Amino acid sequence: MNFVGHLKTVLKHKWQVFKLSIKAGIPLRGLMHDLSKFSYTEFSESVKYYQQGKRSPIPVAREENGYSKAWLHHKGRNKHHLEYWYDREVKEQPIIPFKYCEEMVCDKLAAGITYKGKEWTKEFELEYWNTKERDRADTNEAIKDFLTEVFTQVSENGIDKTINKKNLKKIYDKYCNKTNNN
Ligand SMILES: [Zn+2]
Repeated sequence: MNFVGHLKTVLKHKWQVFKLSIKAGIPLRGLMHDLSKFSYTEFSESVKYYQQGKRSPIPVAREENGYSKAWLHHKGRNKHHLEYWYDREVKEQPIIPFKYCEEMVCDKLAAGITYKGKEWTKEFELEYWNTKERDRADTNEAIKDFLTEVFTQVSENGIDKTINKKNLKKIYDKYCNKTNNN
């Protein structure tokens, strides 16, 4: 039955991402989002370590095996993850293109909404980002600043006022496109 449970969680998450991606002006990316979750490698591990849809099975697989096959498969194929772009050979991590940053924002918000359900508040993502993700994220500082400002705006003004292409582009340009601006 974990098969059905996990399928529901994935579809719920994809639906949330899709709705947000329409607001962000990237409906096609929203539609294609996380398709690799339907691959055997990702799906089978996530069914095995299913957490009743309350949290991701990936950390549980890591605890059990020392690594998550699903995650390694996923991050190598999905450009909306910071980890896709991480390259230990470069001095400074790259600036991730705007469309994937938009998808990343939709993904992170949707994950919170999916896992938290009724307990989700507009402050949730900023709190989560600041306490659990920000310091450890191996990415360019400009990308961190972009995400911090987006989630700050969500916490202050809500999703509808923050998540639209114009506003996201403005924030992206402020931190990630400095050279193009002047
Ligand atoms: Zn993903």
